[in-house]
Order: sequence, then C-alpha cells, then structure tokens
Amino acid sequence: MRFASWSWGGRHHVGLISPCGSEATPLAVTDAERGALGIIESLARGEPLPTASGARLPVDVITLRSPLPRPLRGLFCVGRNYRAHAAELATTVFASSMPEKDAWPIVFTKLAECVVGPFDSVRLPGAAVSQQIDYESELAVIIGRGGRDIPGSRAMEHVFGYTVVNDVTARDVQMRHQQWDLGKSFDTFCPMGPWIVSADELDGRDTRVRGWVTPAGGQPQLRQDGRTRDLIFDIPTLIETCSRGITLLPGDVIATGTPAGVGMGLNPPQWLRDGDVVRVEIDGIGAIENRFEMAR
Ligand code: MG
Repeated sequence: MRFASWSWGGRHHVGLISPCGSEATPLAVTDAERGALGIIESLARGEPLPTASGARLPVDVITLRSPLPRPLRGLFCVGRNYRAHAAELATTVFASSMPEKDAWPIVFTKLAECVVGPFDSVRLPGAAVSQQIDYESELAVIIGRGGRDIPGSRAMEHVFGYTVVNDVTARDVQMRHQQWDLGKSFDTFCPMGPWIVSADELDGRDTRVRGWVTPAGGQPQLRQDGRTRDLIFDIPTLIETCSRGITLLPGDVIATGTPAGVGMGLNPPQWLRDGDVVRVEIDGIGAIENRFEMAR
C-alpha cells in the first residue's frame, strides 16, 4: 500500500494512493495534520486500517504533503554509507575523518522542522549563510513496530515502509562544525515523499536510487545512480545500531545515506543555484522534485 498525506479543499487528508499512482482515497482519521503518523502508530498497536472516508480523487488535483510532515524525533540520518560516495569525498576536507575500517556507521540528525513536501520549493539561504548547497538522494526507512536493542536478524520485522528524501546539505556549514546537524537542518532542507510504500510491496534492501539536477534553463543531468544493495551498513544493521539503548518508535525515520555523485564530489564542485530543480527517484516508490529558490 501507498500511504500519503495531501491538502485538498482547504483541509489536510491522509489516505491511500492507487498502485498506478493516479488516484487518492482518503481514510477516516482525526489527526490528518500529522500525516501518516497516526495510522502507523495505530497499525503498530494492532488496530485495523481506518476505513475509507470520501470519494476517490485524481492525484493531479490534490497537493501532496510529506507523508510525515513533522517526524516525531527528527530524522536519523546515516553519513557516507555507499563506498563510491565515501571515495568521492575522500579528496575533500572529510579525508581526515575517513574511518580506518567500517566499524560503525556515522549517524546524525536532521531537525523535524526542515521537512517539506515532495514538490515544495527548497529555500536557498543566501550567500552570507551558505554558498555550498548540495543534494543527497536517499532511501528512507520508516519504522513500524517500535523496539529497543533490535537484533539485525529481526530488524526487517520493524520496517513499516519506505519513502524518498533529499538530504539537502549546506556543505560549508557542515564542514565548519564537528557535528553535522546545523548544516543539514536549514528550513526546507528535507523534501520527502511522494508517499510511503509499505514493506510488503518493496524490499528496500535492493532498489535503485537516482538523482537528477536540472540547472535553471538547462537539461536534466543524471548525477546519482546507485543501488541500496551497495550500502556499507545495510538496513538491518542500521536499525540494530539506532535501537541500541534507544527505543525506536512507530514513525521514526532512518535516511540510509546517498550514492556517489553529489555536487561536492564533482570536479569542480557544482553547487545548487537559484532556479535549479532536483529530482530524486527510487524504483518501487516514485519521485520527488524540488525547485531551489533564493530567499527574497
Ligand atoms: Mg545524507
């Protein structure tokens, strides 16, 4: 199933998207403001899926929101989790922090408030704040049943589904600080969607992740093309790691890292500019597409 959140008729709704992606059926929920979070929580408690409420609508007439507009605890994000991406950054300032061996994943946080919808604009902050805005195409895992100290062997039982995120990053700010959270959490820096595909329909352990940049006035350029089977730390390992001593909750989000081809890894680096459009597509889920616009 595909769980989505949308605006239509002056209200927020939560519901299901048809397999072809063309129709939206609203469900009877009382907390549509929270997107799919209430449904994920109630399914985790063993309650049935809410019933349909209202007529089906063409997806063309609704405005999709992030399926999780405000993740409860922000996002758990994984850094440098594809070997080719780690290699492309090894020539940058990150070289000094390359791990000797892949003992533990890098995990950082994006603030919940930076999440925006799958087709919303991303706000470029202005040159005084950052001049190095970059994209990161990523598969995000949505936790269903919560738990603490989840062993990797049981981890997939805790996956509710998957969605697409762009882990937008201010590289100069990221590198300025030992911790990455500030450079990762500017307002609007986490486009998410277009919906959550449930784990019974997609195995996130092997799917294709692609990212395109269309420069203002130019043609789309395929910049990133990876497969999640090439993750250094796979999804069970990430769930095991993030749940060590911390209780994961239904609706928690783990962004799994980005393949090679980010702007910072190009020679010379290519930063996003006013009017550029970034598209992130994951096989079995769909695509998000966001225009980057200078703050005015
Ligand atoms: Mg990332």
